[in-house]
Amino acid sequence: MKLPRKFNSDFSLLENNSLKLNYSSDLFVSCNNEEDLFLIHDFLKNNKLNYWIIGDGTNIILKNNLKGLVIKNNLKGISFYQNSMTAGAGELWDDIVTSSLDNNLYGLENLSGIPGSVGASPIQNIGAYGSEVSDFVEYVETFNLKKGRYEVFSKSACKFSYRDSIFKKKSNLLVTKICLNLSEKFKANTHYEALPKKVFDAREQRKNILTIRSQKLPNHKKIPNVGSFFKNPIISESKLKKLISDFPEIKSYGFDEKKYKVSAAWLIEKLDLKGTTKGECGISKEHALVFYNLSDKSDSLLSYAKEVKKRIKENFDIALEFEPKIFS
Ligand SMILES: Cc1cc2nc3c(=O)[nH]c(=O)nc-3n(C[C@H](O)[C@H](O)[C@H](O)COP(=O)(O)OP(=O)(O)OC[C@H]3O[C@@H](n4cnc5c(N)ncnc54)[C@H](O)[C@@H]3O)c2cc1C
Repeated sequence: MKLPRKFNSDFSLLENNSLKLNYSSDLFVSCNNEEDLFLIHDFLKNNKLNYWIIGDGTNIILKNNLKGLVIKNNLKGISFYQNSMTAGAGELWDDIVTSSLDNNLYGLENLSGIPGSVGASPIQNIGAYGSEVSDFVEYVETFNLKKGRYEVFSKSACKFSYRDSIFKKKSNLLVTKICLNLSEKFKANTHYEALPKKVFDAREQRKNILTIRSQKLPNHKKIPNVGSFFKNPIISESKLKKLISDFPEIKSYGFDEKKYKVSAAWLIEKLDLKGTTKGECGISKEHALVFYNLSDKSDSLLSYAKEVKKRIKENFDIALEFEPKIFS
């Protein structure tokens, strides 16, 4: 196979995933501009290969060396028009939060401090402290790697829901940019229980969020992790009623009509698993959903996560779902 310039072979992914897993990919390319998109499309057309798209690697778990091409999104650029902000997929999410505030546009404060790239934000519809990126999305621009053309999704076409979107089912779409609709007036979203209710301005709100995050979430640059390992399960009203009869103190929230979100952290804490270790991995003492990994391989981490999943199923009859994407 003839490799175009820019492509690397047998590439270590160690610096491209926040779990610091030392696996490699057969091929690796960084996508910096439109020309690169078409180059990658041509290459994939001429070579039948598996491929994976990555941003900052803060929500992926590598299971082994990857047989195929890893495409690192590095498309930059931020622009403003009235109350819309457009950002390239390779920008860091938190940089666009500060950039919006610098331009006196509001809404993203509660999403401060979420690691990772802009391009990944619509994939799992990132969210925190009562906000989700879908609250602000006007459209998402993608490049179809199979067809070699741009495809734009309006907010409704993105089919956003809790940690989900249409993009999870369309692995041939590479998000190139997103456009967000922000507000010229700051309105504090302080519904989340731990947030101070009196806030002076958006910068104070951001500071409050960053303070809470730093107390609860281990820094992935110091302790390798991917944030929440499990999604909060959504269950029916009848199932919740049954659980409440066995565990009256269970933590749950209304989700939508007759569906309830149960705190996955509560389930893990109830089984006394918070702060436990297993070999070189374990569950954070600060946050029951954060699994850390001190090994450069993922075997023990994945087997411990599966063990926890099994115990939750046995004790509460709830099937937890992984939040990060497993690459194998
Ligand atoms: C300490 C910590 C705290 C976190 N806190 C939160 C939180 O509060 N809320 C939250 O929602 N998440 C949180 N996360 C998870 C993570 O930050 C988000 O999921 C983030 O959006 C991942 O961005 P990334 O660029 O690292 O994506 P990656 O890990 O590189 O990729 C994640 C997924 O998106 C796909 N993808 C990435 N870029 C593109 C693209 N341009 N086009 C198409 N597909 C793409 C990948 O194929 C993969 O399936 C946390 C993670 C850590 C480590």
